[in-house]
Amino acid sequence: MNVEPEIKLDVKLAAGYLKMPQSKVQGLLNKRILLQNWDDYQHVFRFDKNVSKIEHGSVLYQKDGSFELIRGFPKIQRAMLLGPAINNHFSKIGSIVVEEKMNGYNVRVADIDGRIAAITRSGLVCPYSTERAEHLLNLDFFTDHPELILFGEMVGPDNPYVPKDIYGIQSLEFFVFDIRQKGSGKPYPIYERRKLADEYGFTQVRFFGEFPIAQAADVIAEIIRELGKIKHEGVVIKDPQMVLQAIKYTCSQSNCADLRHAFRYYNDYGRDYFFSRVVREGFQSVEWDENESELQNRCLQLGESILRPMIDSIRQIKDGMRISDDVQIRVRDIAVVSRFEEYLRKLGVDAVFEPPQQVEGEYLVKIRKLNQSTNDKTDSMFKGELW
Ligand code: ATP
Ligand code: MG
Repeated sequence: MNVEPEIKLDVKLAAGYLKMPQSKVQGLLNKRILLQNWDDYQHVFRFDKNVSKIEHGSVLYQKDGSFELIRGFPKIQRAMLLGPAINNHFSKIGSIVVEEKMNGYNVRVADIDGRIAAITRSGLVCPYSTERAEHLLNLDFFTDHPELILFGEMVGPDNPYVPKDIYGIQSLEFFVFDIRQKGSGKPYPIYERRKLADEYGFTQVRFFGEFPIAQAADVIAEIIRELGKIKHEGVVIKDPQMVLQAIKYTCSQSNCADLRHAFRYYNDYGRDYFFSRVVREGFQSVEWDENESELQNRCLQLGESILRPMIDSIRQIKDGMRISDDVQIRVRDIAVVSRFEEYLRKLGVDAVFEPPQQVEGEYLVKIRKLNQSTNDKTDSMFKGELW
């Protein structure tokens, strides 16, 4: 049953704030491009597509007779070849900064009406991330700087979206990688951002250094090899002033880890996800001028990442089991569990929540995300259906 929301968007006021005609704002609502959140966050509206200069995932809410806008996190384009991409993309500046790219999920944390909210990439306020952010962050930051948005990666095993054990994190940590102004989305330059984050004791992404453009590709290749050995994801290469857009580059081991996960649920992932990861391996091998034995090793890694997990899944389903993606969350406030369950249901995620277990004064809840499409497709092959 759909309950009519109690709060409606003041279209005239919103149009004035966004500098758009009222008819356009009304059109965005009608076409469900500007969507309303629910429950405690009914007054928060999100952009489900790029609209003029406002990115997908941006969030708009009424405040003191006007509005505030929290811009979406900009897309980070990928370098396929480090040398050419750096020379081309950063040709106007003398040096770049390298930070570690942490593998978790993207969250924006900001004060919305005197309370903090953790917003995911698509512009939804995630109840789990919000509860975690309340405990992980020094909230004085938001009292002192209500005009700022903290961008970071939620990383660790107690993670309903991208659980990772590779960092030695016990539960979940928030790694700050950006601070921006509400409204304009203007970022802090890197050194100022790191200093400000440090003043509030925030955990930050690792800083590898600032390097002249001419040396950057070689230095980064070395960093990537080292990060690969410890299964970390990669780097983000940034303009120290944060004027030019950042670019990203990842380790082969991390590409393969993504493939291993995705091929286990081969029919639930989009084809682009697989394809782009395979192509990356081709370019890296050529840029690094690999010899025959290195190349053989890469082929073996890639092939194993694709075939083994898929074969495991097919075998399991053949034996009558259902495959699921098992994740877990950890909360202090038990009420967050049902709110999160409802949230996933609204997103259309098919998930089974197990009863909470008490761990160190918190509640640990295991969640089985069912990968219906892979289960059904595989089953149908055993029933003799054709692809
Ligand atoms: P995108 O649209 O940005 O390409 P994606 O979902 O394809 O998003 P990724 O390939 O994981 O994402 O790369 C970008 C993401 O990396 C960012 O959205 C951010 O969440 C994450 N990230 C991790 N560490 C950093 C960092 N140091 N600086 C910037 N982003 C980082
Ligand atoms: Mg990521």
